[in-house]
Formats: sequence, structure tokens, C-alpha cells
Amino acid sequence: MTQQAGLSTIVTSRGIERLVNGQFVMDGAGVKINRVLTGHLQRRLDPFLMLDAFGSDKAGDYIAGFPEHPHRGFETVTYMLNGRMRHRDSAGNEGLVTNGGVQWMTAGRGVIHSEMPEQDEGLMEGFQLWLNLPAKDKMMAPWYRDIPTGEVPRFTNDDGVTVQVIAGETFGVKGAVQRDTTLPLYLDLEIPAGVTFEQPIPQGHNAFFYVYRGEVVVDGKGVGKTRMAILDNAAGADGVRIKAVEPTRLILLAGRPLNEPIAQHGPFVMNTTEQLHQAFDDFRAGRFA
Ligand code: MN
Repeated sequence: MTQQAGLSTIVTSRGIERLVNGQFVMDGAGVKINRVLTGHLQRRLDPFLMLDAFGSDKAGDYIAGFPEHPHRGFETVTYMLNGRMRHRDSAGNEGLVTNGGVQWMTAGRGVIHSEMPEQDEGLMEGFQLWLNLPAKDKMMAPWYRDIPTGEVPRFTNDDGVTVQVIAGETFGVKGAVQRDTTLPLYLDLEIPAGVTFEQPIPQGHNAFFYVYRGEVVVDGKGVGKTRMAILDNAAGADGVRIKAVEPTRLILLAGRPLNEPIAQHGPFVMNTTEQLHQAFDDFRAGRFA
């Protein structure tokens, strides 16, 4: 079920193609975010469209939240490390995503939702990932699931690495969510200092990780806190070998690219400009769920 200490799981590790620092932006009604994946990286990291990291103990950085706004054509995955965020949407779903919990929302043909902090002090820390939907699923009915921390599959391997399996599968442990077509892998790893973790990644899948505590080395290259590392798609590499220099926490993501056109305007991600216009028309006409 877990890898055996000292035994290699993969043969050849992918290397690091590029480090990304991210950009501090304000979004929602004024929430401070480190946006590490967006815009020009969407093609490179297909099927992933966006990754925002947030982490602040200053209420002013998050208190305004994300009042009602629409989405169409993709999925949002919120992973809350610390803090409390209340979700409400036009499909009638409501939930509180809190310490270690995950909220997975498939916008499909459209939802209007709000994401508001339910705390006015203390640390709020976590991630929001946007995962694209294949063209055939962009107009599917919205879907929603709250996954409290106790329901996120997790294990600790013989080397002391704790793995939370948010999506996909690793060492025989199935994640909380599975998706056809893009086969996303979403792991949260806690790696003790000096320990190496190996994760198989299918060839052709795009992959990256984001370090939020500590520091790691991959193929001789160091990756520190608040950096995103894009893994190369080297022919022959069958996974990634990550060695922690310090006690480290990171999220590791991989997925099969859709290789379909990406047309985005703000919270709508479709395949053509015409579909974006349709999204605006439908939203204005109140045709979202
Ligand atoms: Mn949203």
C-alpha cells in the first residue's frame, strides 16, 4: 500500500523546467492572493487554469471575501489549510470549508456563488485551484462536494512522509475525487527533513508543485517556500523524486492535458469567443442555475 523505505519507486525523475514566483494580486472584494498559475501558463499546464495561494493572519487581507460571482466551464477546488470559509451557490449548495477540508465545485453550465470568510481574526491559509473541463462537459449540470478533513484519504509511508490524497491515486490509495479525461492527481505532502518522496507520473501529463513550508531539491535544483516548480516532460522520466532539505509541506499536481482551445474571460472558461459571449448573455439573462 505504501512504498517501502529505501526502495525506489521510479527510475528516472523529471527535472525542473522552470520556477515561478507568483504575483501578489487582489481579487474578490479585496483579498490578497499569491497567483502562481494563470494566463500564459494555462497552455503549458493544461488542464490546470489557475492556482492561487493565500495565507495571512491579517484580517484586512481576507475579510472582504468573494461575494456573489458566476463561473462556467470548469471546476474550482478549494483546499483550506487554516481558517473558515462559507460557500453558498445558486444550485442550492452551502458548506463550510475549514482546517484541512476541501471543497470541490464543478461549475459546468453555470453557478453563481459566494465564498466568504467566517472569521474576523487569525490565520487564513489555503489554495484555490481551477481545473478545466473537457469541451464535452463544459455545459454539464453543476456538481458540488464538501470533503471535511477527516474524509480526505491520507497515509504515512515507511519513510515518515504524510500524504493527503485530494484527487487521483497514489500507492494504491484513492483520492477524495476522481476525474475521467484529465485524470488529475492532487497531493498534499508533508516530508521530514532529509527524506525523499517519489511519485510516479504518467508520461505526457503536465505536472507542477508548490512549496508552502520548507525547501526541497529535485534533480539538483532547490525549490524554496512560496515557489511553484514546473516539472519538465522529459521523455523517459516516469515520475518525480523530491528530497526535503527542511521539514517541508507542498502540494503536487499532475493531469492529462485536454489539448483543446482555451477561451477565458474572468470567471468563464470556454473553448471559443462565441461561447464566452453566450456565457455573458446567459448570466445577464439570469439563466445560470
Ligand atoms: Mn469563485
